[in-house]
Amino acid sequence: MAIRYKRVLLKLSGESLMGEDEYGINPDMLQHYAEEITAIVKQGVELAIVIGGGNIFRGLQASKSNISRVQGDYMGMLATVINGLALQSALENNGIFTRLMTAIAMDQIAEPYIRRRAISHLEKGRVIIFSAGTGNPYFTTDSAAALRASEINADVILKGTRVDGIYTADPEKDPLATKYDNVSFAEVIKSKLNIMDMTAFTMCSENDMPIIVFNIEKPKNLSRIIQGELVGTLVE
Ligand code: UDP
Repeated sequence: MAIRYKRVLLKLSGESLMGEDEYGINPDMLQHYAEEITAIVKQGVELAIVIGGGNIFRGLQASKSNISRVQGDYMGMLATVINGLALQSALENNGIFTRLMTAIAMDQIAEPYIRRRAISHLEKGRVIIFSAGTGNPYFTTDSAAALRASEINADVILKGTRVDGIYTADPEKDPLATKYDNVSFAEVIKSKLNIMDMTAFTMCSENDMPIIVFNIEKPKNLSRIIQGELVGTLVE
């Protein structure tokens, strides 16, 4: 079957791993993601994943306590490595070859991020999980997704969320809100639509990196996108 996107960067938030839990990694959700990802890898997609850490720790919330922002951000980045290890295991259980890369050196558990090595893994059909975000405090894993997608020349960023796409207003508050199928970068800024933080969004916009925001909790959505179906909202 023909695929629409050859090289893809999938952004999975940490929160998406929680499922209905309040914290941490829900085994059923982890298995769900592993199944969805396995299906597209078997179709021949070159896949890199940026994993978040919000299900375990967020720097900004820590900075409201007696942990400093920078220290909290490092803790958040470490949280993404924990999620990355879990995802790596779940994918390996499905027979998928993976490499966990990290933006903060920790040689015993993950490879250091080296761009050329990452691309070589992709060309060999290995799924890369990028962890530790950008390696810098004051950034987010959405920024890491924008940065790594550009670095590896991905065709698209797929931002897996719990909502069906981008709406004209918050559908939970405004019954008249409608979903966009397509929206331009300029319109997102003009209408102040909330897709990712501005640093990440600007980077995508400046590098002409399309983003698809979609509901990753719905089975087969990821495969449908890879096969060229219009699922979620395409920002370009
Ligand atoms: N973080 C950071 N620099 C990065 C990426 C992440 O400092 O390049 C920290 C930041 O504190 C953030 C936390 O790691 O709150 C977890 O990442 P994020 O909130 O992006 O995860 P998600 O929302 O996707 O679960």
